Amino acid sequence: METTLKKIPLLDVPAQTQPIRAELEEAIARVLDHGRYILGPEVAEFEKAVADYCGTRHAIGCASGSDALSLALMALSVGPGDRVITTPYSFFATVSAITRLGATPVLIDIDPATYNIDAAAIERHLATASAEEIARTRAIMPVHLYGQCADMDALLAIASRYGIPVVEDAAQAIGADYRGRRAGAIGLCGCFSFFPSKNLGGMGDGGMLTTNDADFAAKLRLLRTHGAEKKYYHRVVGMNSRLDTLQAAVLQVKLRYLDGWTGRRRHIAAIYNRALANIPTITLPVELTGCRHIYNQYVVRVTQRDRVRAALAEAGIASEIYYPVPLHLQECFAYLGYKPGDLANSESAAASTLALPISHEHTDEDIQHVAATVGQIAG
Ligand SMILES: *Cc1c(COP(=O)(O)O)cnc(C)c1O
Repeated sequence: METTLKKIPLLDVPAQTQPIRAELEEAIARVLDHGRYILGPEVAEFEKAVADYCGTRHAIGCASGSDALSLALMALSVGPGDRVITTPYSFFATVSAITRLGATPVLIDIDPATYNIDAAAIERHLATASAEEIARTRAIMPVHLYGQCADMDALLAIASRYGIPVVEDAAQAIGADYRGRRAGAIGLCGCFSFFPSKNLGGMGDGGMLTTNDADFAAKLRLLRTHGAEKKYYHRVVGMNSRLDTLQAAVLQVKLRYLDGWTGRRRHIAAIYNRALANIPTITLPVELTGCRHIYNQYVVRVTQRDRVRAALAEAGIASEIYYPVPLHLQECFAYLGYKPGDLANSESAAASTLALPISHEHTDEDIQHVAATVGQIAG
């Protein structure tokens, strides 16, 4: 006889918001009452709160994490003929932000231990690049993948040697620490996403840019409102990309809980790390010393990944692959001319990583059950 399966999702959005529902309803009601849906008072309040949280002087809300990346590159005047160095092992938006502006992504392989861009490989690339290529390299854009910062000291050292600004794709890393600094406060600017599956998620799309540079902040503010400071007087061609007042109101409430929720994620990661430590077919995530991983995802490498994932699904346990096809091998980027084998660490990660359920609403028992089941299947 079959017993009923306890289904464990990757995350359960309604369960996440249930405990704070009254506060959210109040915040939403305030927006309904004042009616200032575009750049209303909650937007500036929430921008200030995020700037304080990240330790930057400025924060600029926008419509999504994807737009945050686009706005940052637009503010750097990235255009046709320019190059931007980034990783192929990320969400699509990291690279599409570059190509949409007509620029060329220069894709550099990852460190297989952290899945973040390999600073030494950037160094090797720049050492053999022509003077013209170096001059046209407008940004280095590391991604703080899964919630852990890239090797920022090494990246900043290279960037300052070549005079190239660093734009952090911090979409998965709000609250991550890197040797005393916060994600988004290390490079020229940080790009955040409030997509519902991020650690700080809205009730829809939303994004934010953080920076300490007042001129850069002013450019970003201009670009997010069609390049017009004064309505109908356009200094540059920008976009329509604002954070909705409604999203800011919701996110303002949720930000107050973020550290507690991140603490839960770190606790869950510790449960997995203990339970899966001695399974030879599994490689655990690593947390670099001096850094605080916020575990937007808990990702292991596992042999026979697809078999393990199918067996987990049969046991009622959700898992996900971030990301099955590295960006240099995506159909839409075929024109860039990369081929299989060019970025071997990213390709091997794409073939072997598996994200397990991790979200603040999961109970310890749920996670112990997932870990035990993974152990049985993979062990
Ligand atoms: C989520 C994400 C984005 C895009 O954010 P959206 O808000 O969905 O547009 C960009 N980069 C990375 C690494 C992400 O995880």
